Amino acid sequence: FKSYDSTAHYEETIRTMICVPLKVRDRATGVINVVNKSGTDQFTADDQHLLEALAQQAAMAVEHARLYELAITDGLTKLFIHRYFQARLEEEILRARRYHTTCSLLLFDIDHFKKFNDTYGHQQGDIVLMEVAKLIKQTVRDTIDIPARYGGEEFAIILPETDTAGAQLVAERMRKVVEMYDFPGQGKPLKVTISLGIATFPDHASTRPTLIKKSDIALYACKKRGRNCSIVYNESLDSLS
Ligand code: GH3
Ligand code: MG
Ligand code: MG
Repeated sequence: FKSYDSTAHYEETIRTMICVPLKVRDRATGVINVVNKSGTDQFTADDQHLLEALAQQAAMAVEHARLYELAITDGLTKLFIHRYFQARLEEEILRARRYHTTCSLLLFDIDHFKKFNDTYGHQQGDIVLMEVAKLIKQTVRDTIDIPARYGGEEFAIILPETDTAGAQLVAERMRKVVEMYDFPGQGKPLKVTISLGIATFPDHASTRPTLIKKSDIALYACKKRGRNCSIVYNESLDSLS
């Protein structure tokens, strides 16, 4: 039994109680507690059977939700995986088109990360990827923006209902947060920077693949310009790539 320290008052109101486990295969994943059968009645064996049937359904539903979470989450960074990102971007563009609103995409890449790995080792590189992911989560709007690991050391953030000016603010905030951050390292803190490409639906693209393409072109322009910067897509950048 779980103790009810913080709700001692609630505990006093309990007259009768029945508890059934939520089980997935032979593993207990939770418990359903039901209290105070109406009137002065006691819980019966029938009540127990009913709750057990309910618990079986609930356990399956919770397990499915857990497996789904696992399937769409990148193991290293705990951000969304590439496939989920693509599906969500498609949805957000459809939504923006239907409601005549905007949706921006940030695509960013860690600067000179190959050199970082070569200097400090891949494990240290992986730590940086995990830390960058944490910084993203702290910087974007929780449950609104959609941060994903796009590829190895490339990240994408979908910003629903955000125009280019808004996306630029987020991009610059993200860039500065990473630039300022002391990444935990071997004895001394380590520094990395990122470059960010920005593109907006419907200003720069009207479909998912083109929106990605345009932010990628803008990202490439950042690298050309010298890195640790953010750039909004415009047509004059096409000739660079
Ligand atoms: P640039 O500034 O132009 O981006 O230079 P870069 O060296 O970062 O080049 P690129 O973006 O092509 O970086 C690819 C490198 O990122 C290759 C590899 O060393 C590193 N990398 C990719 N995925 C991972 C990963 O999962 N873990 C680690 N530790 N390194 C990775
Ligand atoms: Mg890269
Ligand atoms: Mg890179």
